[in-house]
Order: sequence, then C-alpha cells, then structure tokens
Amino acid sequence: MKNIILIAAPSAGKGTIASLLKEEYNMTHISTGDILREKANENSPLGRDIKYKINNGIFVDDDLIINILKERIQKEDCNNGYILDGFPRDIAQAEIYQKILNEIGKDIGIVIVIDVSLENALKRITGRVTCPNCKRVYNTNIESIKPLVEGVCDDCKEKLVKRVDDNAETYMDRYNTYIEKTSPLIEYYEKQNIVYHVDGNVSVDYTYKQVKEILGEKND
Ligand code: AMP
Repeated sequence: MKNIILIAAPSAGKGTIASLLKEEYNMTHISTGDILREKANENSPLGRDIKYKINNGIFVDDDLIINILKERIQKEDCNNGYILDGFPRDIAQAEIYQKILNEIGKDIGIVIVIDVSLENALKRITGRVTCPNCKRVYNTNIESIKPLVEGVCDDCKEKLVKRVDDNAETYMDRYNTYIEKTSPLIEYYEKQNIVYHVDGNVSVDYTYKQVKEILGEKND
C-alpha cells in the first residue's frame, strides 16, 4: 500500500480513519500525538516538558519528533505502508521528512485531507474518548462510534479516557495553530500532485468510503 499522510484539523477524525485502514489493510498507524502522550507519562524533565506542551497545544521540539519518526518508519511493520497522523505538522517538518525519505529510500505516498467545518470539529471534541491501551478512538456524540458500554473499550475492556487538551478553550488554540502552521502543507503537497480531499462532515462511513475510493485508484 502507498504511505498516507492524513491532514485535518484536530478532532476531524484522522485517528478513526487510520484505525479503519489499519484493520482492513494491515497498515501501520503512526500517531505522533499518541507516541508523545506515552512519553509524557515518564517521570522525567523531558516527560514533564512534553506533558506541558501537549496540555497547552504547543508543538514539541522538531528534533525530538523527527528522531522519533525516523526510527519508527524504519521498523518492519511499516513495510506494508504506514499512515501518518499528526506529522508533518508544518512546512519545516515536511522538508526534513522529505530528506529522511530520500536518505532511507522510501516513497512519500499520498496526502489525504479530511475537510471538516469548525462547527463539526468542536462538536466532536467534547465527546472524544480514547482507549489508553489500544488507542481506539470513540465518540459519545456520534452514534456509529460510541462504545457499546459507556466508558469501556469494546475490544480490550479498558476504561476509556478523555484527553486533557480536548476542551473548547484549548481546542481554539490548537485549531488556530492548525490553520496557521499545518494547513499550508496542503498547498505545499499540491505542488507534488499527491493531495486528495475527502468530506469529513457527514459520517465516518462516508469519509472512509471516499478514502477507499482514492486508495483503489492509487494502488491499482
Ligand atoms: P494530536 O494527538 O495529533 O492532536 O497531538 C497532540 C499534541 O502532541 C499536539 O498538540 C502537540 O503538542 C504534540 N504533537 C503531536 N504531533 C506533533 C508534531 N508533529 N510536532 C510537534 N508537536 C506534535
């Protein structure tokens, strides 16, 4: 499978789409946010610094994220294609990423942009809960991805948790950072003719259907 970079505003559904792709195509889901949240639990100055940044919607240092990414995409489970969720976050990261790809001989693949209105994203943020174990994302405001039992992961029965940064106030900072720093990546990758848009406003099924159509075309 082609590697995929998912670009979308926070809580647009990147994690949900990545989980579906992982299940159906055995692709590897790399969420830099998830990796950083694990590191933030370490009781060390670095762990505390990461936790502060995540909780306040501030980007962690490029060096740290690039090192994590470079190591991760060279693992064997990435050979069948991987999905990047949360990286690259700005043009500087995209440029370094391209250098890494050239160095290790991997292809950039395609970029899928999930378009979602601010109104819908805000609605979703209040209902998002995640399994700390398998990282599956649920949403109590969306019927099709509600957990079967409230507060419990369908798969591993872990207690679901809400992210500290998932509140309306922090959300607007994260959203504005997305518009200012991350969304210019769309134009950056359009110049390489690798960008595809899907409508993320309707339902998970509808978004996923559009993603599969794109993959069908690209992997024939
Ligand atoms: P996410 O789960 O993608 O919403 O990311 C949560 C938080 O992790 C962000 O608000 C940043 O603090 C940090 N983060 C995730 N990915 C990156 C990245 N590529 N570069 C810098 N910081 C990141």
